[in-house]
Amino acid sequence: MSELPYSYDAPVSQALFDRAAAVTPGGVNSPVRAFRAVGGTPRFMVSGHGPYLTDADGRDYVDLVCSWGPMILGHSHPEVIAAVQDAVSRGTSFGTPGEGEVALAEEMVARIEPLEQVRLVSSGTEATMSAIRLARGFTRRTKVIKFAGCYHGHVDSLLAAAGSGVATFALPDTPGVTGAQAGDTIVLPYNDLEAVQEAFHRHPGEIACVITEASPGNMGVVPPGPGFNQGLKDACRENGALYISDEVMTGFRTSKAGWYGIDGVRPDLMTFGKVMGGGFPAAAFGGREDVMAHLAPAGPVYQAGTLSGNPVATAAGLAQLRLLDDAAYDTVNAVSAQVQALVTEALTKEGVAHRLQTASNMFSVFFTDRAVRDYEDARKQESFRFTAFFHAMLANGVYLPPSSFESWFVSTAHGERAVQRIADALPAAARAAAEAQA
Ligand code: PLP
Repeated sequence: MSELPYSYDAPVSQALFDRAAAVTPGGVNSPVRAFRAVGGTPRFMVSGHGPYLTDADGRDYVDLVCSWGPMILGHSHPEVIAAVQDAVSRGTSFGTPGEGEVALAEEMVARIEPLEQVRLVSSGTEATMSAIRLARGFTRRTKVIKFAGCYHGHVDSLLAAAGSGVATFALPDTPGVTGAQAGDTIVLPYNDLEAVQEAFHRHPGEIACVITEASPGNMGVVPPGPGFNQGLKDACRENGALYISDEVMTGFRTSKAGWYGIDGVRPDLMTFGKVMGGGFPAAAFGGREDVMAHLAPAGPVYQAGTLSGNPVATAAGLAQLRLLDDAAYDTVNAVSAQVQALVTEALTKEGVAHRLQTASNMFSVFFTDRAVRDYEDARKQESFRFTAFFHAMLANGVYLPPSSFESWFVSTAHGERAVQRIADALPAAARAAAEAQA
């Protein structure tokens, strides 16, 4: 992408990106950070305070990514930083049990009724990978149902794309994943309960679990239709499979008890990450005690981690969760509603066809005039309009996710000034979206 219709000067970030590319594939440690979907120079950030990020060129931005969800209290929250400093002063890793991990697990279990037992890990990927192994070990079955457009981390068996048809056996979506790894994954269209029934019908006694994002945010925000999660739960129960709700993104963000706190559908297993780590690598999976009892050392299904329950990460996560009371969620929800209204107003004024979809305080904009119910719908949007919109916002000091297939995130720290900056940036961005050419 060489022609961008606005000033695009980030020389220090560009120099860092060039240096990075020499030693790291694509110059980044997680692909979406490379701006490939939107083009241009990824901003190398040097600090974050409240709702703002500052890049290596000294420019600051209102952050609507919030580290892809975790920073729900904003950056450098003083109480989280204090908890981290206190933990660090006592050492950074012991490889033994410690009280911090017990306290974090207790806090999580107290908030989410179906979460009877929890095991801490270091990333969302590890959480979903382990939950699937446990589901297979518990049911002694092999097949897994997932939905197209739902992302559960880079677990081999879950990196599988849907073909056409109702219950398509997945082909590997990336070199390095074998047919055998992907072959036990059945990929179905999201929000399609009939496809789920059909898959259970075709594979009696073979399906270990259904894994779904509690409310998807990885194809943009596409919430479950009425009764969809309950239908999954019922289909699992009727067929002896486990219902795994992936709350890595929604957990402790969409409400005090995550998406479970909103739809009340009781999963057999759940996965968590992001908010519960307070900006550190901490994640978890958990659920029914009789299922979790199959996990080593209590049971035969092996799972472990050198840094699992790390004392610094658990201190950060616990401090963040303890600050997330009802008032904090009211604040995040109110900020989110404000930003949503501003975006809708600006795009409507410029006559840009769009759908703003929400899941509690998570939201995203699709450049289409139709409701987006699944990945096929999401892919039909006019992403070139997002590219223009994104760069105009960036040029005016607002940092959006660099892809039209991602949720936007706000925090309790997004106060009046930050919201005003977004409001000021929106008219030009909406105009850029209106004028964009495919
Ligand atoms: N599950 C969901 C719903 C996610 O959104 C993500 C990451 O974005 C993951 C799992 C993987 O988490 P991690 O990136 O910590 O491995």
